[in-house]
Amino acid sequence: MASFELIPLFSGSSGNSTLIKAGSKNILIDAGRNCKQVCCALDLIGVSPDSIDAIFITHSHHDHLDALDVFVRKYPADIYATSSTHKYIARKCSKPHPLSRDVVIEPGQVTDLGDGVTVLSCNTPHDAAGSVCYKVMFEGRSLMVMTDLGYITDDIRDMSRGVDGVLIEANYDKRMLVYGPYPEDLKARIAGDRGHLSNDACAEMIRDMIDEGTYNFILGHLSENNNTHEKAYLTVTEYLRRFALEQNVNYNIAVANRYEPTKGISV
Ligand SMILES: [Zn+2]
Ligand SMILES: [Zn+2]
Repeated sequence: MASFELIPLFSGSSGNSTLIKAGSKNILIDAGRNCKQVCCALDLIGVSPDSIDAIFITHSHHDHLDALDVFVRKYPADIYATSSTHKYIARKCSKPHPLSRDVVIEPGQVTDLGDGVTVLSCNTPHDAAGSVCYKVMFEGRSLMVMTDLGYITDDIRDMSRGVDGVLIEANYDKRMLVYGPYPEDLKARIAGDRGHLSNDACAEMIRDMIDEGTYNFILGHLSENNNTHEKAYLTVTEYLRRFALEQNVNYNIAVANRYEPTKGISV
């Protein structure tokens, strides 16, 4: 079987990019931080930036597209995003990138990249217009990136059913957010329906996904100020233990590194 992998290049409120290798295709989901840091992360895992075929942008927040402008001018790759996100990118990326196509995707529709690779998108409840998440499908297997969402909608639940692996948001620890340094309006935005997923909400979703047959999870998009690797990992695994679900028996869970590639999911 041809290889199919999801490798977070870096993940967190400081910047996000995930490589998905599906047979002959190399896909980036989001391109945060800057071009040099994306290339450096790719180099660490032995992937040339020239080999990126497509970049799917989830939404217009800077931690998902700061690297895009320079990257596509140096290493042309087609840019897939909703029309709202493309409009934002057009304002931000003022210099031409003539060798990269801008492809508008419709949430809920499948994009065919050729060579057996397809990508499905789904609206996400988040404070950016046209925000989506993506599932990549290849040879009967599927991998998903599910970050930047205030809560799990029925559509996201449907789309995630039975995926082989997922990078899922565990953004904040509820106590750290409540007692942390952020102003009250920002705390409310993060915890709101168009904000981010807490460790607890992530744990509940993982339990449901294990029930539906998913085994591989990477916790990602951790807040720098309102979470830690340990808290995210322990909140989720201790919750799962209450249902007699154990690491390496019922699931495999890792936590994505903030600034460097994480050992990925290979299915
Ligand atoms: Zn984000
Ligand atoms: Zn966001």
